[in-house]
Amino acid sequence: MADVLFLKEDSLERLKQCKLFILDIDGTFYLSGKPFDGSKRFVDTLESQDKKLVFLTNNSNRTIESYIEEFAKFGFNLSKDQILTAGVATAQYLFEEFGPKRVYVVGTDDIKKEFERAGLIVVEDDPEIVVVTFDKTLTYEKLKKASVYISKGAIFVVSNPDLNCPSADGPLPDAGAIASAIRKATGRYPNITFGKPEPRLIEIIMKYNNVKPSETCMIGDRLYTDILAGIQAGTLTVLVLTGEATKEEAMKSPLKPGIVAQDIGVIADLLKE
Ligand SMILES: [Mg+2]
Repeated sequence: MADVLFLKEDSLERLKQCKLFILDIDGTFYLSGKPFDGSKRFVDTLESQDKKLVFLTNNSNRTIESYIEEFAKFGFNLSKDQILTAGVATAQYLFEEFGPKRVYVVGTDDIKKEFERAGLIVVEDDPEIVVVTFDKTLTYEKLKKASVYISKGAIFVVSNPDLNCPSADGPLPDAGAIASAIRKATGRYPNITFGKPEPRLIEIIMKYNNVKPSETCMIGDRLYTDILAGIQAGTLTVLVLTGEATKEEAMKSPLKPGIVAQDIGVIADLLKE
């Protein structure tokens, strides 16, 4: 098959043994809210084979509910435990680790709600923690406040390291790019950075689903986030070519995915063979 390359010997056998598939969203499942041709085939195949599907995105500006509503429009009924975002995971981790601290969030109103829901106190002044997320409502005032609080000693947290988010118009500045302006302004590096390629979020999903790394497949379009996260968590990895990475980059990269596929529909076909 011309649409697929196996870069590791046992990848096809491993794929068939997988019980849990963790899927990136942007550039993997859809682009700018429009699912790829193979996406429905992939979801239907997993369902017919009784395999679990969980979406994992580094996105940090949306609520879980907004994804559930969006996916319902495509005809996919997602449950709450089928999606984890870096923004929500950051909120939950900060509460578990530090308790009900005062947090200044560089972020949308949606994500501020998730921080409050996790038990943190979202404030405008005198925070103990500053969290930088993918903020499409960013202003100079927010950059200024974040920089001043961090320079005064607040813990500097970044929800995800992505420099840009792919869109139909081109790359949009993401949390990593916003954090880098604050880092340059203050001379301080982030204390904690969440999201892929940290394996933590994959580990949380595997634990929740009671599935081992050898039975898990991480699928995404970026080598240095999706694929690296999967490698670090010990799962099978699949790179799809519907987003950022090209086949040439995959061949040259030291981060070797187990499988390179044109799109997730190809993975559905392999599972059905
Ligand atoms: Mg992606």
